[in-house]
Amino acid sequence: MAKKQFKTESKRLLDLMVNSIYTHKDIFLRELISNASDAIDKLAYKALTDDKVGLDRGDFRILLVPDKAARTLTVSDNGIGMTQEELEQNLGTIARSGSFQFKKEMDQPREDVDIIGQFGVGFYSAFMVADQVTVLSRAYGEDAAHRWTSRGADGYTVEEAQREGPGTDVILHLKPQADGEDYDCFLDPQYLASLVKKHSDYIHYPIRMEMEHSHLKPAPDPKPEDYQPEYETHRAWETLNSMVPLWNRPKKDVTQEEYDQFYKEKFGDWQDPLSYTHVSAEGAVNYKALLYIPAQAPYDYFTRDFQKGLQLYSSGVLIMDKCADLLPEHFRFVRGVVDSPDFSLNISREILQHDRQLKTIAANLEKKIKGELERLLKEDREKYLTFWRAFGPQLKYGVVSDFGQHKELLRDLLLFWSSKEDGPVTLAEYRARMPESQKYVYYVRGESREKAAALPQVERVLDAGFEVLYLTEDIDEFTVQILAQQEDRPFKSVSDPDALPETDAQKEEHERKSEESKPLLDFCKEVLGDRVKEVRLSQILKSAPVCMTTDGPMSFEMERYFEKVEGQAPMKAERVLELNPDAPVFATLQKAREEDEARARDYVEILYAQACLTANLPLEDVAAYTKLVCSLMQ
Ligand code: ADP
Repeated sequence: MAKKQFKTESKRLLDLMVNSIYTHKDIFLRELISNASDAIDKLAYKALTDDKVGLDRGDFRILLVPDKAARTLTVSDNGIGMTQEELEQNLGTIARSGSFQFKKEMDQPREDVDIIGQFGVGFYSAFMVADQVTVLSRAYGEDAAHRWTSRGADGYTVEEAQREGPGTDVILHLKPQADGEDYDCFLDPQYLASLVKKHSDYIHYPIRMEMEHSHLKPAPDPKPEDYQPEYETHRAWETLNSMVPLWNRPKKDVTQEEYDQFYKEKFGDWQDPLSYTHVSAEGAVNYKALLYIPAQAPYDYFTRDFQKGLQLYSSGVLIMDKCADLLPEHFRFVRGVVDSPDFSLNISREILQHDRQLKTIAANLEKKIKGELERLLKEDREKYLTFWRAFGPQLKYGVVSDFGQHKELLRDLLLFWSSKEDGPVTLAEYRARMPESQKYVYYVRGESREKAAALPQVERVLDAGFEVLYLTEDIDEFTVQILAQQEDRPFKSVSDPDALPETDAQKEEHERKSEESKPLLDFCKEVLGDRVKEVRLSQILKSAPVCMTTDGPMSFEMERYFEKVEGQAPMKAERVLELNPDAPVFATLQKAREEDEARARDYVEILYAQACLTANLPLEDVAAYTKLVCSLMQ
């Protein structure tokens, strides 16, 4: 029989697994039981809709068979089984989701974390305790079974075999006792029973093992003088787990560690979740739910492959793996399970989509999730910031999507960078410290906090003592526009000429100056041609001589965003060059125009270039600009 090689990554993982001095090798059992349970879930699901399966819910079980003589431990299930291809695919490769993170982690090994202990490594963990693993499996619907055998890193073989009924036996040939490493314990029924109790108690299929019991034989009556008590032993199959799913246990009986472990195992994350919410609802609909907020986005979160949804159970039986209708789009990062006895087992996808109960549950869960996020925001800012880094944009898209339908729900959860604090702030925090005299919530769009803060048009608002929000993300501006629709103190761009209150005298003064400067402004416009829509006297500058702003609904950032995402902006932002009449160079420009027009033209070019540069806009002709500056210096 030809030996086949593992894929490279699998080999590395195996080496790591086998060679690491691993302190929690016990967990292999949890992993194998969890695989067995998943396999049964799959067949049980089929059985709901297909009479041919021939098994009732009560027939499903997982067996543990320790065999001291053969020095093997077998984990056996009557689940869906694997075909030859599946054996090779599933046990011969590791390019699967759960392991992906692991691979990434291995590329940057960190001494301080126990990599393997962090998350489920599945089937491979068998090699921590076994020097040979045999998997005998028969797929549901097939007559032939197959035997997969491997001694670890050197590869595996697959051959045809016999097995009664569908299912899988994983047979571990335990390593010999060595150097203080105990493997005999995995042949000891008492120890195995304790492991099941500890790690796999909630598995909802019975995990059975044959246990030996000895008890006192009843004494004969009457008791003889020299009566010696006699013991007899008998063996019986026992169910080791309570089968109560975690979400059905009272909250007070479940430890944080159990909640976290359940999450990691179920959803293949290697990190603890940021938080969990355990819901138990009775009333119009009865259900239990366990919701988790992950600490980071899964690797495929921002791809089309990612499917949102919660696992849906009916009284402990899985009926749908990712029920999308239970989660609104803006909370699509949430993972979890919902279990309700009100759903029938035969519920089909189509029916589910229109189910009123489902809608009620979804609406309740949305509130719960919001509540939990609010709690984090209030009580654990650190955690909330971690959440925000991972999923913040999701909430902002939520505000913008569906014509702003969800803005009420989401606005209190949003964070923005601000001129007042090192970290991002909420709108409520901003509002709470607004002075009475402040009519608007000010913002400016910029590529980063630093760049936004350095924009010339920010200066006068900051100098007036007002806080400015720095919108650094593409979505921010749209978010603000949607939110602006019904605020008592509306959002205002600092680039807006009437951003700050003005007296009538100030307005008149501005009009007078504009009128006076008209010939100069016309001259500038003539020099710049179509590059700008207008040249005007600025009302938004304090010390800087020029800046570039926009007229109309398009901003520079929107233009950039559309170019980046669509390859082209639907229209260009209309550029306005603003000159500060109070800056000394304004007088210089004016003088030049009276004395030497060619020089004045050069000055206009330079001011234009500076306005572009401070607005982070590219110069059309960098070489010409450089030459111009040098010629003026000479
Ligand atoms: P994971 O469970 O994280 O996907 P594993 O390495 O534990 O990774 O298992 C790989 C795959 O092998 C599983 O996804 C499943 O398809 C299959 N598998 C493992 N154990 C069994 C089993 N007892 N019965 C059927 N399929 C199994």
